[in-house]
Amino acid sequence: MRIVLLGPPGAGKGTQAQKLSKEFGLVHLSTGDLLRKAVSEDNSLGQRVKSFMNKGELVPDSIILELLESEINEKKDNFILDGFPRNLTQAEKLSKVLQQKGKNLDFVINLEIDEATVIKRLIGRMVCPKCGKIYRIDEVGPEKICQSCGAKLYQRSDDDENVIKNRFQVYLEHTRPLIDYYKDKGILYQISGKGSPEEIFKRIKKLFYGSNKKQGTN
Ligand SMILES: [Zn+2]
Repeated sequence: MRIVLLGPPGAGKGTQAQKLSKEFGLVHLSTGDLLRKAVSEDNSLGQRVKSFMNKGELVPDSIILELLESEINEKKDNFILDGFPRNLTQAEKLSKVLQQKGKNLDFVINLEIDEATVIKRLIGRMVCPKCGKIYRIDEVGPEKICQSCGAKLYQRSDDDENVIKNRFQVYLEHTRPLIDYYKDKGILYQISGKGSPEEIFKRIKKLFYGSNKKQGTN
């Protein structure tokens, strides 16, 4: 099974991807993790990634695709993509890479959520600097310590309201068109991203276990 998760920042893609990968034994491929892994491996590709990151530049699509391709080659056939594709060009390139291997995507799940909810959610988010675990502010105790590794949690600086609004605009402009792209291919599933991670996951699971209505299902 090959799944892509779409949705604006703060829709809960990372959390849902983790839950899905556990439930169905899928490899969770997030571009952030792939880039970090490449840098830590320190081969020629990793060095190229590092040079872009050190200059504060975006890592080009071609490199991200190269990383994805090698993961898809070496790891099983079942994966969930989170954070990629982010625009139409990337979606078309991804489809080409898969086609060359005689593969295609099975499900594209779009987590729908409005800007006001995203702002509320992200502003109250705390991150562990050591293990990357994300907490809602109402989940952390007064000492603000990571339950997994004990590190002191912090609030991400890019979770400032204006930065969030800006990321939401970028999403609307570049990522939103993917919804129509995948709808045309007949593999788009709309899921409400409101409520707790558990509630959202219940809706997603219904897609696989429950009544399997295509397009516009909630
Ligand atoms: Zn931690």
